[in-house]
Amino acid sequence: MSSERSQAFNPYSIPVKVSGRTSRIRAWKQFWGMLREWKVAAKAIASTSHPLLAHIIPMRRCNLACGYCNEYDDHSSPVPVEVINRRIDHLARLGTAIVTISGGEPLMHPQLEEVIRHIRKRGMVAGLITNGYLLSRKRIEALNKAGLEHVQISIDNLEPDDVSVKSLKVLDKKLRYLAEFAYFKVNINSVLGSGINNPEDAYVISRRAVDLGFTSTVGIIHDHTGHIKPLDPSEAAVYHRVKAIGKKGYARITPYFQDNLAAGRPNNWKCRAGARYLYICEDGLVHYCSQQRGTPAIPLGQYTKEHVRHEFLTKKSCAPYCTISCVHHASTADFWRAPQQNVYEARPKPSPTMEDLLQLK
Ligand code: SF4
Ligand code: SF4
Repeated sequence: MSSERSQAFNPYSIPVKVSGRTSRIRAWKQFWGMLREWKVAAKAIASTSHPLLAHIIPMRRCNLACGYCNEYDDHSSPVPVEVINRRIDHLARLGTAIVTISGGEPLMHPQLEEVIRHIRKRGMVAGLITNGYLLSRKRIEALNKAGLEHVQISIDNLEPDDVSVKSLKVLDKKLRYLAEFAYFKVNINSVLGSGINNPEDAYVISRRAVDLGFTSTVGIIHDHTGHIKPLDPSEAAVYHRVKAIGKKGYARITPYFQDNLAAGRPNNWKCRAGARYLYICEDGLVHYCSQQRGTPAIPLGQYTKEHVRHEFLTKKSCAPYCTISCVHHASTADFWRAPQQNVYEARPKPSPTMEDLLQLK
């Protein structure tokens, strides 16, 4: 796909006007957010016995049905807010720094704002991963008011296709609402790799994100067998262009992670899942991550600092070709210390969803 196509095929550059008031509030909140991030980093360096990031699932149900996804259903009920808030209390007890709400589609949860408020009340950073379909001006204002601090949306293509309707064509209007009204930070993730028909789409999506004042990242995906293939030359060219216009921040601290995956090379890193990163499913069990669900599968209420210390030292055999960059980020502060002694032999799992590939700051 040529770059001419992307330039010609870009009807989405509708300008957005942001009010002076919104800009000032956003700048102020983002300044405080940056200070909080530094506090998280300092605490991470000082101690290894608390989680940095937890993903929590308040709702497995989704309003979409992406062809590659193994993480949703079309019928389950929302987890009651009292139950989720008790789980958030347990995350606070463990000393968790950042809680990101994921799904399914969390915007379908009728009391999502209460959950966000509770995360903030317990002193943790509140984030959200959404497909964006249910965003409106009113909902964004409610999320502002609840104290949400960052949002991530993954966009798979320019036009909806048989596999995914998370397209820029559908979502551009939602992105404009976010640019106009959101006080929180927004990151847009695009994807490259097996099954992505038009790699050039990733560049157009990233360009649009940056034009709207958001950060942008790109994820590399497995093929259907769960293996990473090196990007072909046209994909690799897009990858480097997207990286060049992408975000500042964490991804630049560990650029080799995505670079190695793009080249089909393994990464040499210590996955601290179960310690620095926790995945809390809708049943309230702690798992390593969305792709190693079932391990260790301990109820969060029974999870202790001892479990955190044990998993910190457990080597994961799935690490070399893992594409889950948020776990990598959460593990980065400990790259140089504490060699891992225990061994976990990962079971083969299906390919991750696009949401697994999201890169959180
Ligand atoms: S990838 Fe996200 S939006 Fe698509 S079906 Fe899965 S949970 Fe829903
Ligand atoms: S799949 Fe990745 S994040 Fe999950 S346990 Fe394995 S190495 Fe860690």
